[in-house]
Amino acid sequence: MTMLVGKRALVTGSFQGIGLGVATALAREGADVVLHGLAEPAIVRAAEEAIIEAGANSVASFTADLRDQSATERMISEIQKSGSIDILCNNAGIQFTASLSEMPRSKWDDVISINLSSYFDTMRLLLPSMKERGYGRVINIASVHGLVASIAKAPYVAAKHGLIGLTRVAALEYADAGSRSSGGVTVNAICPGWVETALIEPQILARAANYQGDREKGIADLLSEKQPSKRLATPDDIGALALFLTSKAAHNITGAAIPVDGGWTAQ
Ligand code: NAD
Repeated sequence: MTMLVGKRALVTGSFQGIGLGVATALAREGADVVLHGLAEPAIVRAAEEAIIEAGANSVASFTADLRDQSATERMISEIQKSGSIDILCNNAGIQFTASLSEMPRSKWDDVISINLSSYFDTMRLLLPSMKERGYGRVINIASVHGLVASIAKAPYVAAKHGLIGLTRVAALEYADAGSRSSGGVTVNAICPGWVETALIEPQILARAANYQGDREKGIADLLSEKQPSKRLATPDDIGALALFLTSKAAHNITGAAIPVDGGWTAQ
């Protein structure tokens, strides 16, 4: 599998969950992969091994806290010392649920800075060099909550709606960069519904508590409310779509917000 040989990808929040699914899909095609996230050294090492095992040409890891703009800038500058980034998957994110009136201001700040502002920082720093080379892919992991709202998720929904707007602006600004043969520069958002990762575990457990702690019943309850397929997606499902978006065949898909939500937003 060689589609991405010679291409270098940065995936934020990629030691686990959706980010690791995307990084693995890119690794299988021979990319040079830069992992990132907040994690213990043992988790970092395990992710690096998995990425090399999957077929990556090389792997490197960074642990910048994306709440800190200067840490983000230092990480990007460090990454660029050893070469350009061709594929940026902005994926790091957190969730915190509380009603609007009970949402702590500090949680609002954290969610907005990680789930939205850091995406602005990585894009503004990396898109110009993608334009110079005529090929670049930005894949922002948004959410169905970029398209519709749910209660008790004010900062998350605000960040994800903002991210779709940011994606569209960047897509327009870079739409005519490169050519069909170079692949062009595209900027898209993937909008998952429920995906089985650590991020949704507290919500699964809260539902399971209504069924004597039965996790499967908790998941079924969560899905039955909004996701008509009644199936959780997996990080690999999201990775497969991200991989397609990196292909030259996807050169004219830009500014899109693509749901992977089992019909959630079709309702
Ligand atoms: P996850 O909790 O498994 O992974 C989140 C990643 O973000 C981790 O690697 C973590 O280290 C990193 N991160 C968190 N705070 C950070 C910080 N301050 N600085 C740097 N890195 C930080 O979650 P996931 O489900 O894989 O989520 C990935 C993305 O997918 C998020 O943007 C999330 O909003 C989005 N998403 C998830 C679902 C779902 O159902 N799981 C649905 C829609 C969208």
